Amino acid sequence: MSQVSFRSKVAFLCSGFVLITSISFLLVFSWNSTTLTQQQIDKRINSGENVLLEYFSAKEKLLNTAAKVLTADFGFKQAVATNDSATITSVLENHSNRINAELMILFDREGDLVSISHSKPLDLDELKKAVSRLAFTGLTAQFLVMNQNLYEVIVLPVEAPRVIGYAIIGFAINEKFISELKRLTALEITFLSNTNEVLISSLDPINRESALSIIEQKVSTWLLFERDLYRNNRINMDENFNVTAVVSASLIETYAEFDRFIISILLIGLLILSSGFVLSRFLAKKLTDPLFSLVKLTKRFANGEYTIYSKINDETIEVKELHESFVSMGKQIKSREQEILYQSRHDLLTGLYNRQTLTNALSKLLNTNEKVLLIAINIRNFRSINDVLGAAIGDLCIKGIAVRIENFINGSIAEPTHSVYGRLGADEFLIGLKIASVNNKNSESMKECIVDVMERLSQSLGVEEMQINLKFRIGVCLAPENGNNAHDLLRRVNIAIDTARRENEAVRYYKNGEDEAHLERLLIVDELKDALHQDDGQLYINYQPKLNLITQRIDKVEALIRWKKKNGQFIPPDYFIDLAERSGLIIELTHWVICAILKQLVNWKEHNINLKIAINVSSQDLSHPSFLDFLLQKLDEYKVSTEQITLEITERDIMENEDLIISRLIQLNEMGIATSIDDYGIGQSSLSKLKQLPIKEIKIDKSFIMKLDEDKKDQFIVGSTINLGHQLGLSVVAEGVENEQSLDILRSYKCDYIQGYYISRPTSADELVNWIKDNDY
Ligand code: C2E
Ligand code: CA
Ligand code: CA
Repeated sequence: MSQVSFRSKVAFLCSGFVLITSISFLLVFSWNSTTLTQQQIDKRINSGENVLLEYFSAKEKLLNTAAKVLTADFGFKQAVATNDSATITSVLENHSNRINAELMILFDREGDLVSISHSKPLDLDELKKAVSRLAFTGLTAQFLVMNQNLYEVIVLPVEAPRVIGYAIIGFAINEKFISELKRLTALEITFLSNTNEVLISSLDPINRESALSIIEQKVSTWLLFERDLYRNNRINMDENFNVTAVVSASLIETYAEFDRFIISILLIGLLILSSGFVLSRFLAKKLTDPLFSLVKLTKRFANGEYTIYSKINDETIEVKELHESFVSMGKQIKSREQEILYQSRHDLLTGLYNRQTLTNALSKLLNTNEKVLLIAINIRNFRSINDVLGAAIGDLCIKGIAVRIENFINGSIAEPTHSVYGRLGADEFLIGLKIASVNNKNSESMKECIVDVMERLSQSLGVEEMQINLKFRIGVCLAPENGNNAHDLLRRVNIAIDTARRENEAVRYYKNGEDEAHLERLLIVDELKDALHQDDGQLYINYQPKLNLITQRIDKVEALIRWKKKNGQFIPPDYFIDLAERSGLIIELTHWVICAILKQLVNWKEHNINLKIAINVSSQDLSHPSFLDFLLQKLDEYKVSTEQITLEITERDIMENEDLIISRLIQLNEMGIATSIDDYGIGQSSLSKLKQLPIKEIKIDKSFIMKLDEDKKDQFIVGSTINLGHQLGLSVVAEGVENEQSLDILRSYKCDYIQGYYISRPTSADELVNWIKDNDY
């Protein structure tokens, strides 16, 4: 739809209104004047007709009198009786002269012409024929057409006392007569015969025939239609319809008048229309001007200018109110925008800068090309504070720390322009300081500064009448040594904190290259994810046998995962298992391993091979709420009994989430699934702990076994550990047996199982089976 402006809409509507009004006025006026004109013409014709009829009846009276006088004239009667034609003629002439009658005829009783007075010579036969058509109507006049001439006549018998003849007296309706009539009636008069021939007409007395065409003539007009020149009315002049008079009113004058009227109305209409149009443009402008200034306001709002000083040049109450509400809307938007802006830039809990704002502020600080010290602070075990004391206390701790950071920056170290600080995330804060603002600027003073920060933060925090002792980790980065843009530096200071966490240190400086290793680790995690999803043979299981020293047979193997990337690169399991644990991918990976192992067990069962498999699981697996259900479901699905498998978990993993893991170990024990403590000896579990654990087996870490034959201390530790294990009713496995001497030592210690390269390296399932057959295990 095409777009129309409000202004032209208003102008269009108003002009339309004016147009319709003036057209209606015009129509009403012209209709009224047309009818008025019609009525006037009717009146003119009516009165003309009356005059015409009056005129004829006056003439009739005149004829009557003349006839009566003539027929009563004794001398005339005598002259008729005696046939004295000279006297008759003179009497007739006298009488006709007296009343100006053009026709005076006398017939004898037999109908022969006796005398005639007429200016023009008459055809006698014609006369006789015409007279024979006359009726005896007493004193009523009638019309006589003779030789194309028209007369008004009266016929009277001449009695003496008996009828001796007939007298006819009449007026000729000639040019003079008709022009007299025209003058009296103010109309054109035309007489027609019963055959519709023009007898005489005031229109053209000479050329009679043309009269008819004149009265029926039409004229074309400046308006596109034609109109009659005359308005005609027919009058029957006698009872026998022998003569008809047509009275014609000329319309020329009327039309001229009417046209003048119409033109003036049109002109007035045009005037109204154009002034209406101008007025409506003006009105539209008047209406839309305030709208335009409001539109300007909204545009300014869109540009973020919310304060309006300008006034509106319009006194209308509505417009004023609208303007005022716009102004107050501007104020409200401004304050709301400021609020939103504040919220988007700050951390709502502490009021410190959030990560985004901090990044920007740090960028500005770095732009000064001065050295910057970045300190990322992490509260250790913050989750347990939330868990134990509740989120509200946790929030108060965060706020307390924020206040300390703020005081510390503002109070002792730097000017505000030399520092940035804010909250990076849940339990992480960041401080950025220009080195110039750190006393002495050397690396010693920087260390002192960090120690200072740590000391101030670590002071016990009073929260709701409690004294809470928080512990922290600090990651440190330096610009430009460790990077020159805010994003890199923030990532690297985070890496420093991560490393501190991983290596359980309080303060950790970022070392160049750690970032790349970090990125590589991220890449490996992605690739591992893909390998798990594609399950296209990149991942597979190798099996390492455990030799039962009592039976000298292989009845158990350990499943060890392998990853050979499509490009042939071999990724060591220690490395990617660690990454899988950090990224949470371990759950999926263990699921995959369990399924692969169960399939292998089914396959071996089909080939009558009866081996138990030990599976390595991490603490995350055991902590996962649905791990045991998953394991049971899969055992059920593959129809593998619980005795066929053992789960290995490292001593360190047990310590990580002791209570939960112990409860899981109890559950596993109840389900009939054996568990084994892996890498035993390098963790810090106490002997009393070992007593509590519902386990079947301990695996002495290979670091004690690999050089067992050489190292007396190792021999002592291993010997006593085997002893202790046995006393607790546990089976003991030694892994990492690399030579016969070590094997012999372990045999002498009564170790239950040995595992190591000396027996066999981890191999594929098929190779393992062949190896067992070949070696008769
Ligand atoms: P681990 O559970 O302690 O596995 C034993 C490791 O010692 C294996 O290394 C094995 O090849 C190696 N080993 C065995 N005998 C000898 C020997 O005589 N000398 C030496 N020097 N080493 C020997 P591998 O296969 O590289 O696995 C490393 C670690 O990766 C495993 O240590 C385990 O913690 C982890 N891992 C391997 N497979 C899995 C798995 O499927 N799941 C989980 N969660 N971890 C696994
Ligand atoms: Ca193991
Ligand atoms: Ca081990």
